[in-house]
Amino acid sequence: MITGIGIKNKLLNQQINQQIRPQKKWQQLLAEAIRDPSQLFDQLDLPTTGIDQTLQATGKFNLLVTQSYLNKMQKGAFSDPLLMQVLPVANELTSVSGYSADPVCDQNYRIADGLLQKYHGRALVVSTGACAIHCRYCFRREFPYSDANASKNDWQAAVKAVANDPQISEVILSGGDPLVLSDEKLASLCFQLSEIPHVKTLRFHSRVPIVLPERIDHDFLSWFQHLSVKKVVVIHSNHPNELDEMVGKSLSALHSIDTMLLNQSVLLKGVNDNLETLENLSRKLWENDTLPYYLHLLDKVSGAAHFDVQENIALGLLDELRGKLPGYLVPKLVREVSGKRSKTPIV
Ligand SMILES: *Cc1c(COP(=O)(O)O)cnc(C)c1O
Ligand code: SF4
Repeated sequence: MITGIGIKNKLLNQQINQQIRPQKKWQQLLAEAIRDPSQLFDQLDLPTTGIDQTLQATGKFNLLVTQSYLNKMQKGAFSDPLLMQVLPVANELTSVSGYSADPVCDQNYRIADGLLQKYHGRALVVSTGACAIHCRYCFRREFPYSDANASKNDWQAAVKAVANDPQISEVILSGGDPLVLSDEKLASLCFQLSEIPHVKTLRFHSRVPIVLPERIDHDFLSWFQHLSVKKVVVIHSNHPNELDEMVGKSLSALHSIDTMLLNQSVLLKGVNDNLETLENLSRKLWENDTLPYYLHLLDKVSGAAHFDVQENIALGLLDELRGKLPGYLVPKLVREVSGKRSKTPIV
């Protein structure tokens, strides 16, 4: 007899089996990501006169972009909204007052090795310092961040601290990007955390479903679906052009195994600071079973001032957005203010 559950499992397995079976493993795709500016200029037919400033601005935070993300950029256009997020430019070298190396003061909130707690009930594991892409506006750009963490990959202190604090009901895996860890390491960490009785939710903050969708593969889905806690994946997409078919498949695979999908974006001048882009982003997220969660104002990290959108302009955009979209597709406009009990809503 075929039960409801039997049908559901069968459908699930079909879906997982149809999931992206790339020619290359994600690890290889990540290893082959573009780090060399001349390779990027070449592939995008960009005039080589621009390359000097890129080389200079590379600094401590080098160029890193996956091939699949680069494939979504328009050729020959420095103003492409995806390219702007990853291309080192001369503006980064200007020092601007009010911008610093650690604008969010993360280091003040360490409660154990690799574990931060700023807010009630939620603790954040810095699971790795590595990412699959380097976003030029990222507040982590100034840290030669925790490569120590990444190489050690031992979260015993963090797991123990969570186990000892019954107030922590949600653990956020962040970084860097937790999904660049191997399945072996990530599954081990996740199962250890999910076995702690007071941990009800595991949340992942990751840009990988957007920039390396091949990573959401059969191997990953087959252990991830067995986590006994609520699963939330907060992706990070800033522009509708990022959400192509391949990304859609990775999101629908996650959705099909009962993962709650949310998106956070950063409001970035020249990238998504207009009504049409924000509206299209929300609609496209919804088509992909993902709800807009936060729209962050820029963290004031050195080298990112040229991306800043002023608060009053942001508020105006949000107001216009509310006039276009159902309430559940309008993200919350927030800023990270050090020392507060939560992200600070901008109203
Ligand atoms: C943003 C953040 C969280 C999550 O906050 P939510 O409002 O629950 O999304 C948790 N811990 C730290 C350290 C954060 O920066
Ligand atoms: S942490 Fe997120 S925003 Fe920062 S560089 Fe990595 S992927 Fe980009």
